[in-house]
Amino acid sequence: MPLKIKSLSDLQKFPIINKEIYFNLNKKKSVKIDKNIYLIKAMANIDGEEALFPLSLNDYQNYIDFEKRKFELAGVKKSDLCSVVEFSQNSTIVQAQSILALGASYVPLDGDEAKIFQDIVRYKVSVIFTIPPVVYRLMEYVKVRKLKTSLRLIITTGVKIPDVNKLNLETKDVLGAELIDTIGATELASFAFSCKKHRNFYHFIDQKQIVEIIDPVTKQPANEGEIVITPLWKVDFPLIRYGTDIFTKLDKHLKCDCSVKNKTFFSGVEKRLTQATRIQRYLVDLKDFYYQVKDSLIWQNFFDKRLWFFIEKPILTILITRIKNVDTVLVFIDKAKFRSTMRRRQPIEESIFKMTNSDTRIILCNKKIIEKMSPSYQDIRDISKKYLPKEIKDLLSLC
Ligand SMILES: [Zn+2]
Repeated sequence: MPLKIKSLSDLQKFPIINKEIYFNLNKKKSVKIDKNIYLIKAMANIDGEEALFPLSLNDYQNYIDFEKRKFELAGVKKSDLCSVVEFSQNSTIVQAQSILALGASYVPLDGDEAKIFQDIVRYKVSVIFTIPPVVYRLMEYVKVRKLKTSLRLIITTGVKIPDVNKLNLETKDVLGAELIDTIGATELASFAFSCKKHRNFYHFIDQKQIVEIIDPVTKQPANEGEIVITPLWKVDFPLIRYGTDIFTKLDKHLKCDCSVKNKTFFSGVEKRLTQATRIQRYLVDLKDFYYQVKDSLIWQNFFDKRLWFFIEKPILTILITRIKNVDTVLVFIDKAKFRSTMRRRQPIEESIFKMTNSDTRIILCNKKIIEKMSPSYQDIRDISKKYLPKEIKDLLSLC
């Protein structure tokens, strides 16, 4: 391994580090709070654990600077009044500071969603940074009440938008605002944004990061492969060749006049490389997820161990679906057994919330309908209704 990295080929002598390795490394190192550091939290894993990533004051300022470039490239101007809508503190603090660093104005909005939407109109907010489900709900809110917003730009992140071009036409029509999508990760900040001309394609941020597209099999640079990033803004806690798990394709023929220096086009998140399923903003292995939910159903009372010795356990099936553009977990449980064995809904809801933070519905029903499902857990979000098998349609008709 070279001690000094002077070229891309030096860099490429380093192995690609994936999320799991990075998380485990961070878990082992206990964070010392005797230095001037900012702790960022990453998405929770299946066990509800959140990894902590320390940033030195210097790296924190670099982080702000990096995010500032994102807002600049997305088109935020000094005359804008911006707000970060419905994010955790984790993102809100950094994003708000980046907006201020750019010279634009910022207004914090809180309260429930209706109040936030009202305030966006009332304060004449011109730019919001948020997640796609909020955009759909905001459009609905404005449409129903026949309101006019002062929004001119919406920047999204966190959830894949199937067709950015189409959503941009809708936000222009309903809200009067252009939509720019971004891609990022807590460990890397926002590393890409969608092009204004070819809206379903993305550009990489042109500062302080080295981007490689690596074939997952040969581990060599390629036109299609995993996005691997070395964030150069991380100086004190460096990260070298971080595999994002995102599979993408480069496009070498498109042209545009975005102000980004490096005009590489790529097709966004084509797919995730690991088996993990993304529910809301959380990554879960669907099989693990199913078994954890099952455990939360089976092991609720101190007498359960003895109980299952005499009685057959209640069966369940899980569907991951999308209701009003929000990922929703539907849990169907054998009604008779649920009642006769004194099960409660709360432990199940809690376990799901811990893993995904998503909307959950528990539906008690006839055992016969559940029995037909195989496997017992399915992600039906991207399947058109008419192609769903009969047993799934039967289950959905109960909701
Ligand atoms: Zn462009």
